Amino acid sequence: LRLCSKSIRSSFLDNFRSQGHTIVRSSPVIPYCDPSIAFVNSGMCQFKNVFLGLTPAPHPRVANTQKCIRVGGKHNDLACAGRDSYHHTFFEMLGNWSFNDYYKRDACRMALEYLTRPPVSLPLSRLYFTYFGGSDALGLPCDEETREIWLELGVPVGQLKREGMKSNFWEMGSTGPCGYSSEIHYDLKGDPESALARVNADVSDLIEIWNIVFISYNRTSPDSIVPLANNFVDTGLGFERLVTILQDKRSTYDTDLFEPLLQTISKVSGVKPYSGNFAASHITDLDTNYRMLSDYSRMITVALADNMFPDATAKLRNVVRDALIISEDVFGVKQGKLLKELTYSIAEILGESYPELREGLNGIQLIISEESRIFDNLRKGAVKEWKTLVHAQPELSVLNVMEEPGLVSGVKYLNKQLVREPGEMSGETAFTLYDTHGLSKNIIEKLAAVKKVDVDLGGFEERLNQLKMSSKEKSASNLPNISPADVKDLPQTTDSAKYNYHYHTDSKK
Ligand code: ATP
Ligand code: MG
Ligand code: MG
Ligand code: MG
Repeated sequence: LRLCSKSIRSSFLDNFRSQGHTIVRSSPVIPYCDPSIAFVNSGMCQFKNVFLGLTPAPHPRVANTQKCIRVGGKHNDLACAGRDSYHHTFFEMLGNWSFNDYYKRDACRMALEYLTRPPVSLPLSRLYFTYFGGSDALGLPCDEETREIWLELGVPVGQLKREGMKSNFWEMGSTGPCGYSSEIHYDLKGDPESALARVNADVSDLIEIWNIVFISYNRTSPDSIVPLANNFVDTGLGFERLVTILQDKRSTYDTDLFEPLLQTISKVSGVKPYSGNFAASHITDLDTNYRMLSDYSRMITVALADNMFPDATAKLRNVVRDALIISEDVFGVKQGKLLKELTYSIAEILGESYPELREGLNGIQLIISEESRIFDNLRKGAVKEWKTLVHAQPELSVLNVMEEPGLVSGVKYLNKQLVREPGEMSGETAFTLYDTHGLSKNIIEKLAAVKKVDVDLGGFEERLNQLKMSSKEKSASNLPNISPADVKDLPQTTDSAKYNYHYHTDSKK
């Protein structure tokens, strides 16, 4: 018997419910009144104001499964998604919180018990634990207390690792709640000799699964942190990674969360099936494209279901266009058809936990069709005109107009600007290329290099920030989002049909 993903998700919520936690909903992926982040990137985002003492805690202990997106800012995994076997643009984070209730000892004990007892039953010998080693710069001591706790709980000393600020002092952004963290890693390879050296070494055979954060500080400026009035526990367990381990796989793409998506791509396109190869994690590799498209399609579906709109300022439009490019150029399926088929599979796999995916399916597919139509027209018109431009300016040929149709109008605009202000691309000009012509920062820099002019990136960033702030304010004011004060409780019984917290098993293994 192997546990299917639904039963694994349920097992976490059931476990923490039985330990006195109230199960709350995932917040939408659009941050609630918080312009400091573009997407909700962890379970704690909806509780930020509780930590800061600005909002009362909804309950002393809560747990949930949170939809997270990491494509920008402090947490950006866009470049790894599809290339490695364990980072996604969209993922689910299982979490439990204590709002000035239990603290370090109980948080560590509950995590260890969940992982090592049925139905999860991971062998302790495969688990590795990190603790915060202190910071001279901030005048923070080593977290000996947490080290002692793990030892008392039975963790062998050879499975503990002291780590620094980068991995073990968790911060939500440049300011805000923060604190020491202790992480749990799993050795997929099962080689105790080399395991400690592989912890936090960016390898796919020993991966971080759970981050337990002891929130007790607030960072007020780059070199100052002050203690908070209370102590909090904030944990995040990577769901897809846990499922990978429990289904005895090496990659998240081999689990029941992704397999049906990879099959849908092959079935709709007629291209030979996914073969699970990571040897050539490159953009021209078929398996990598399979992975990228399945990953992007989940992120797109979830973001659209939460009413995020793919406008020029949002990363979402870039991801939609990348998915459309892969669908057409690699899998030969036009007009967003593949992406739309994938939304059915995603609603099927995740719809029970996140009903908005099923309820929003029509709207999601309409937007995909519309985005595909706009992008198609742009690309068609662009190719012809681009040929004329490249004929006159051969240096432009290194740029790919199929991926950036805005290059046509962008180059024409830039040429005019450079006649007026020769030698330099001003921040304002760069911003217009971004905002009006839809070019990415990366392409703007390439374009400047091709035209042999300097670009005022500082001025560009400044204008970009202004735009982001104003669009955030606009969207925050008309969002139907929940606030931490009225986090909706889910039914607390285990027999709820809607949320279906029953163990499901299948007999594949
Ligand atoms: P990593 O070091 O692997 O990048 P992280 O330290 O950035 O992870 P945290 O911010 O501590 O991650 O998030 C808590 C947990 O969420 C992680 O322990 C991991 O299991 C999971 N997680 C983080 N990023 C991703 C991602 N991009 N895709 C899938 N799971 C993730
Ligand atoms: Mg990370
Ligand atoms: Mg980490
Ligand atoms: Mg971490």
